[in-house]
Amino acid sequence: MLPWVVRRTRLPLLSLRCVGCPSESATTGEGRFRVNANGKLLDVWLLVRCVSCDRTSKLTVHERTPVRSLDPAELGGYYANDPELVASRLLDPLFARRNRFTLDWKGAWRLDAPPAWLDGAMPVQVAVRFEDPVPVRPERLIAQGLGLSRNEVLRRVKCDSPLRRTTSAGFTFTVMPGD
Ligand SMILES: [Zn+2]
Repeated sequence: MLPWVVRRTRLPLLSLRCVGCPSESATTGEGRFRVNANGKLLDVWLLVRCVSCDRTSKLTVHERTPVRSLDPAELGGYYANDPELVASRLLDPLFARRNRFTLDWKGAWRLDAPPAWLDGAMPVQVAVRFEDPVPVRPERLIAQGLGLSRNEVLRRVKCDSPLRRTTSAGFTFTVMPGD
C-alpha cells in the first residue's frame, strides 16, 4: 500500500464578506487572538484582516464563557497567539459555521506522493491520508498524483470513496493496469 499525504502549506484564506469594501477574502495573517475578561466571563476572538483594504474583523471563539470552564493551557494559548491554536480554531468546522465563512484552500496545500511508479507491477494500492481537512475530489487528486487524465482515472481506478464527491476523509484506491 503506497502512502499519499494531503497537507497544508500555509493557512487557507477565509471567504468572508468585508463590511468596508467589496472584497470577499480575509486572512488570519500572523494569527492573533483578542481576549476580553469581564469579571468571571471571557470573550475570545480571532482577528482576521481583509486582504484588500486591511480592515480587521473579530470572529467569535468564546462568548461570555466562564473562565473556570476553559483549560488553562488553552487560555494561555489565546494570550500567546499560539500558532497551533490559531490553526485549529480556523480549521474547526463549527467555528466556520458560527462565523459564516468558508475556507479558501486554493494554493494552500500540496499532495505528497512517491515519485512515478506506474511502470511497476499492477494493480497498485494507494492509501490517502489527510493531515489537514483540505476538501478534494478523489478523481482530481488521483489524476494529479498519477499524471493520468480524469477519463483514465474513471476507467482504471477502483476507489472505496465516491470519485466525484468532495471529501476530506482518508480513502484508499487501486489502480488497474492500462491497456
Ligand atoms: Zn475590505
